[in-house]
Amino acid sequence: MMLALPTQLTINAARFQHDLDELAQIGETMDGGISRLALSNEDLEARAWFAGRVEEAGLLVRDDETGNLSGVLLSDTPGAKTLLIGSHLDSVPNGGRYDGSVGVLAGLECLRRLKESGLRLPVHVEVINFTDQEGNWQSFFGSMGLTGTLQELQVSDLRQDNAAFRAALFRAGIHPNEVHLARRDPATLAGYLELHIEQGDRLDRSGSDIGIVTRIVGRTTLRVTFSGESTHAATTRRDQRRDALHGAANFISRMYALLDDYPEGIFNCGDLRVRPGAFNVIPSEAVLRVECRHPQDSTLAEMEQRLNALAEDCACQHGLSVRTLAVMRRPAAVMAEPLLQTVEAVCQHNGCRYERLISVAGHDAQVMGAFTPSALIFIPSRQGIAHTPREFTEWQQIENGANVLLQTILRLALEGA
Ligand SMILES: [Zn+2]
Repeated sequence: MMLALPTQLTINAARFQHDLDELAQIGETMDGGISRLALSNEDLEARAWFAGRVEEAGLLVRDDETGNLSGVLLSDTPGAKTLLIGSHLDSVPNGGRYDGSVGVLAGLECLRRLKESGLRLPVHVEVINFTDQEGNWQSFFGSMGLTGTLQELQVSDLRQDNAAFRAALFRAGIHPNEVHLARRDPATLAGYLELHIEQGDRLDRSGSDIGIVTRIVGRTTLRVTFSGESTHAATTRRDQRRDALHGAANFISRMYALLDDYPEGIFNCGDLRVRPGAFNVIPSEAVLRVECRHPQDSTLAEMEQRLNALAEDCACQHGLSVRTLAVMRRPAAVMAEPLLQTVEAVCQHNGCRYERLISVAGHDAQVMGAFTPSALIFIPSRQGIAHTPREFTEWQQIENGANVLLQTILRLALEGA
């Protein structure tokens, strides 16, 4: 079934690069970074721009009840399944121009080339921009919507920030009580592919062009609330202080010490809110958000248990009470071996240096992997720097990755007959 022509098909590099440059102007920050927080004006502008590119390419524009936005190259084969190619156009605050954007725009370019080639594929090929991958409101909102796993998490989110999140959703035309309609039937899918920058430095250091991800780490996000009493900073006797921030600080430093037991584990506390927030008042409340990651689910669960115990211990030591809530639990995901072998075969055919690796960063492929056979393809990030304006990937590597993606789509599409 493999034809001679498809293995020679390559992307239109100039057109792809032009798209990347144009998109990078939407939400551009003073220091050359990108702020396109999910559902913000900039994110909505990027979507409108993307829909324009899809239409211009003569592809079908499709969206769903969670705001996922797609371009589809339709097959004329009756009952054809859909091969999904995805990533995200949203960013973290002042992030880089490659994270997510490369995957969506490479997918778009692949679809354009396939359309231009005139090949009649037995599957629909769809490039999809997932809503809020980065978690400005709810991490993986779009991919969880598509896989029908959103409901429970969304409910817990409503407790947290109901009004603002809902307002942002409505403004983007997303109705919270309709998001369940975005769920697709996995039987209609032929698989999922994602091209992404590595965001780590393993490929950069080893000199590989392509990383083939075998597994994505599991993640748990905990909200830890220490509660004490706000009294006068100076007149309260030292043994009477119930300082929530002091307890939280103790918790944070002891948390990192626990990592000695988990060489592959990651903890991070990047968000701390203190009330009442006055320099001369003892803090009555400290709310932390802590992230835990590990490639093995059982170890991740153990890490979470130890954090719970540590929080209790710190609270006790400082005369505080503490509440711990898991606001997100995302199990580790395993990518589909047959797809990984296809990507390997393409790398060999294209003469790329490649290696297999584990992803410690979260991706939509993680959500999709439990739903349909999925593969995640990495290209190098210079010095592993990501989520900052200094994020950089050589153009040659981006083009190379897009060509690996195109050839992988072709092989899978032809196999999917
Ligand atoms: Zn990303």
